[in-house]
This record gives sequence, C-alpha cells and structure tokens, in this order.
Amino acid sequence: MHDVVIIGSGPSGLTAAIYAARANLSTLVLTGEAFGGQIATTNDVENYPGFEEITGPDLTARMRAQAERFGAEMVMDQISEVDFRSPPFSLIGGSRTYQARSVIVATGASPKLLNVPGEQEFWGRGVSVCATCDGAFFRDQPVAVVGGGDSALQEGLFLTRFASKVTVVHRRDELRAGPYLQGRAQKDPKIEFLWDSVVTDVRGDQVVTSIGIRNVKSGVQDELTTDALFVFIGHYPNTELFKGRLEMDDDGYILADRYMHTSVDGVFVAGEAQDHYFRQAITAAGEGCQAAMEAEKFVARHSSR
Ligand code: NAP
Repeated sequence: MHDVVIIGSGPSGLTAAIYAARANLSTLVLTGEAFGGQIATTNDVENYPGFEEITGPDLTARMRAQAERFGAEMVMDQISEVDFRSPPFSLIGGSRTYQARSVIVATGASPKLLNVPGEQEFWGRGVSVCATCDGAFFRDQPVAVVGGGDSALQEGLFLTRFASKVTVVHRRDELRAGPYLQGRAQKDPKIEFLWDSVVTDVRGDQVVTSIGIRNVKSGVQDELTTDALFVFIGHYPNTELFKGRLEMDDDGYILADRYMHTSVDGVFVAGEAQDHYFRQAITAAGEGCQAAMEAEKFVARHSSR
C-alpha cells in the first residue's frame, strides 16, 4: 500500500513525486515503458526555468534523482486496469497489483500519426516521430518533416544539424508555430517549406526513398525524394485506460478542476492527460506539484495510519 501512486514519469509525474515524497508520503512512480515522457525525446530544452540549455533526458534524469533523494520509488510497469470505485484504489500492472490511498494520473500524450499507406511499413526505417532519437541516422541526407506547429519547426531545426536539407510539408500556407521558431526556421538555409501540401503515402524499398505529396489547392500529385519522414502533427492524450472511470472531454482529455481534482475523490491528474492547451514541461511540472499537494491533503484526511 502506497500513500500516492503516480502513473507516468514525465515532468508532471516526476514533479508530483518530488513533492509527495518530500511531504513524507510513501510514493511510487509507475514509469511506463519509456521513462521521462515526451520531453525525454527532445534534445534541446531552452525554456525550462533555471536551465538555459539542457537536454530532455538530462532534465528528467535530474528530476528522478531529486524525487529518489526524498525516497520516491520508481518501478517500470504498464498499468492495464484500474479500480477507482473507492480508496484504496487498485492498479493492475504487468506482474502485480498496486494499492494506493491516492493516485496521480500523469500519463501524458502521444504523437499523432498520419495514417497513410507506408507509414507503418517504414516505421523505424525512415518514418519517425523523434528527431532526437533518429536524426543522426540521416547525416548529409535529405529529410522531410510534416506539420506546421512548434514541434515541427523545433524538431526541423534540430534535424538541420545532420540532414543536407529539411523540407517542411505543411497543409496550409501559414504556420501555426510561434514567431520565434518561425523566424529561426525561415532564416535557416537548410529548411525549405512545401506549402498547402499533404503527404499521401510513404515509398521505398528496404528504407524510405520518397513520399507522395498532394497540393491541396491545385490537387496536383507529386513525389518528394527523401530518406526520412518525421511526423509532428500534434498529440492525443494517453487516457484510454481511464475511459468510464474518470470524466473526460470528447477528445479524451481528463476533466480536472483548478486543484487537479478529477471526477473521483482521491484521484488527481497533471500534465497533458488533461491539458491540450499549454503543453509545456514547466506547466506540466507545476500541475504535478499541485496534484501532489492535493493528494497529501486527501491522504491526511483519509488515512487511518
Ligand atoms: P500543434 O500545435 O497541434 O500543431 C500540429 C501541426 O500539425 C499543425 O500545424 C497542424 O496543421 C498539423 N497537422 C495536424 N494534423 C495533421 C494532419 N493529419 N496532416 C497534416 N498536418 C497536420 O502540435 P505541436 O506542434 O506538437 O505543439 C503542441 C503544443 O506544444 C503547442 O501548444 C506548442 O506550442 C507546444 N510546443 C512548444 C514548443 C516550444 O518550444 N515552446 C515546442 C514544441 C511544442 P494546422 O496548423 O493546419 O492545424
């Protein structure tokens, strides 16, 4: 039995762990298969206060060490079922069931995919959602990025370190990304934009060699020679597990009040599982802190220890 079980190990989950463990609650973090969440796949973090420049894996490793220093336990396990009917709550993992006086859901979000022919077939053989993980494989080779948001440009800029050319394929003629990243990308000699265009399919033999492109205004179909396709078209929340257990909006984001309370007393939520708007490491961390402070109050009220 733990006072707090935190599901997820991104900035929201790890910050919750720091606060919960430091408040002397027995704290367990179920990290999932990939420790660190989305930020652990980002190379350059330039906007996390206190760190002018740090890599995502470094930042989450520091958060982990900080949480462990206060006694938080980390277990790599994937939860397949939850029982939130009344505390203590049960969480069924791969090899055991965890009991929790309170739960913090910090399961984050995952990248959306295009769902076009070839995307799955060439997954890991040129198709990727992680520039930090796969960018270095494409040294001096042309690569394509799809999307027009901050992720597409930030990751596209990162890819210019390796690639000979980065073509950003965007479905409109106006970027969604903020002005800072737009300015940097537009000035970068290695970045080219393909406007009003969508990727229709991924082509290749053993690995990606080109992608099909359709201009949405003219309808003209074309082919772009590229060795890789990096997909950055937004995210969906990792909340499937909580359907029917916690109230959600139509897109699957968990509904929370400003104290990070969910529809179940004693179950809290932080980070992108409930936030489709700010989606920053620092906002997720702040929400993790709030959730842990509320969990502490809940446990104090309900604990018979
Ligand atoms: P996003 O802002 O939702 O942008 C997704 C982009 O993909 C949009 O340009 C969208 O086109 C395009 N898109 C969506 N579905 C598509 C499809 N099926 N086919 C082709 N294109 C498609 O997602 P994001 O870039 O991942 O950013 C998410 C959040 O994280 C944002 O709030 C962002 O500010 C934040 N973020 C911040 C930083 C930073 O450095 N501060 C870095 C990364 C992310 P439309 O524009 O036409 O809708």
